Amino acid sequence: MLSPLQQLDLRHIWHPCSQMKDYETLPPIVIERGAGSCLYDTDGKEYIDIISSWWCNLLGHCHPRISAAIHDQLDQLEHVIFANFSHRPAIVLAARLAEILPRGLTKFNFSDNGSAAVEAALKMSFQYQAQTGNARKTRFMCLTGAYHGETIGALSVGAVDLYTQIYRPLLLDAIRLDAPDCFRCPFGKTRDACACECASAAEASFAKFGETTAALIVEPLLQGSAGMRIYPAAYLRRLRDLCDRYGVLLIADEIATGFGRTGKMFACDHAEISPDIMCLSKGLSGGYLPFAITATTERVFAAFYADYREGRAFMHSHTYSGNPLGCRAALAVLDVLASEPIFATAAANAEFLTGELNAALLDHPNVGEIRHLGLIHAVELVADKKTKTALPAARRTGYQIYREALRRGLLLRPLGDVLYFNPPLNTPRETLARAVALCREAVESEF
Ligand SMILES: *Cc1c(COP(=O)(O)O)cnc(C)c1O
Repeated sequence: MLSPLQQLDLRHIWHPCSQMKDYETLPPIVIERGAGSCLYDTDGKEYIDIISSWWCNLLGHCHPRISAAIHDQLDQLEHVIFANFSHRPAIVLAARLAEILPRGLTKFNFSDNGSAAVEAALKMSFQYQAQTGNARKTRFMCLTGAYHGETIGALSVGAVDLYTQIYRPLLLDAIRLDAPDCFRCPFGKTRDACACECASAAEASFAKFGETTAALIVEPLLQGSAGMRIYPAAYLRRLRDLCDRYGVLLIADEIATGFGRTGKMFACDHAEISPDIMCLSKGLSGGYLPFAITATTERVFAAFYADYREGRAFMHSHTYSGNPLGCRAALAVLDVLASEPIFATAAANAEFLTGELNAALLDHPNVGEIRHLGLIHAVELVADKKTKTALPAARRTGYQIYREALRRGLLLRPLGDVLYFNPPLNTPRETLARAVALCREAVESEF
């Protein structure tokens, strides 16, 4: 029986990334409150939010320090135009970020969601090339399996067909480099023992298209939407080298990986590289408010800095640029990360979670691999463990497991047939253990 709220929801709301017909048999779950790593629906049923509500909730729901900071800001200044005007939270945040970001990223363009941060990065890099005597550098490169958001520009550098295929005629013609596939390595290597043989494909693409490419955009180390694919830091270093060699800007999309998700502050830190442009959102505001930043270097910034009549300015804006509430949420996140042992706890919990998942699922005949980077863990389901053959897509195994897990109080939202855990960094161990047990039950109900 649908509650009146559910009926009203279905009458009017078009939910994101959903076939709405599925809601006939799985109606929307109406959440009333959140606390820590858990959500509670209108019947009081608890759900463990093991995916941080689409990867954005970094430190749990209704964290007292983040909530208090937003409350405080709300009574002072909720918003102000950000052209010519500024405010303390944005200024302090920019200075704090400059200290923790990879070296050289010191200039910040503010927006309000990840896709917007990516759009700004694409326009910025294109214009940078045009204004530094490289007018022929007009194209973008991305990796196969890439995901950078849903707006037309961001989709153009995305390569997950599920999201891009229908819009193909509208999209820019980006160059797709064959991304590493460490689970099904075409060179027959294993994750920990390879020489990035697959980088030869990227080298060939740069040789062919490097001279006409403005920027390469990548999700460093972790291709999230592709199914939490993890690739080695050495590969990212190779891409950095190629970009340097061909005068291509490197855009690191750290929207999903930033702020400790991968075990370091940024995924780029594992490779000890600095990109020319970095996109931040999601964990940036702890997932509390729509907020994003496109960070870049003095060198890129300088190509736009000139007398007004030269027409070199970055004429790009969003109404909610630099929103003070978002800035305060972000500052509160940085305060928590700086003053509480979040990273140490997350590292210990990552090890614990690896052990629990391996014990619960590694021997299952339909588990092809369990991989992890920081606290992010992925379980790739297959039809055949030996051959790594995928399950038939029409079976919608991941979706069925999703439903089973929900019934048991676990919010697990698989990417195809890849189940993953990407919980708030401070999730208690007992909660992780309970989530693994529920996940196992849901998997076993399907095979
Ligand atoms: C979520 C995400 C985006 C898009 O962010 P939105 O706020 O949903 O527009 C872009 N890139 C990556 C890597 C993401 O995970």
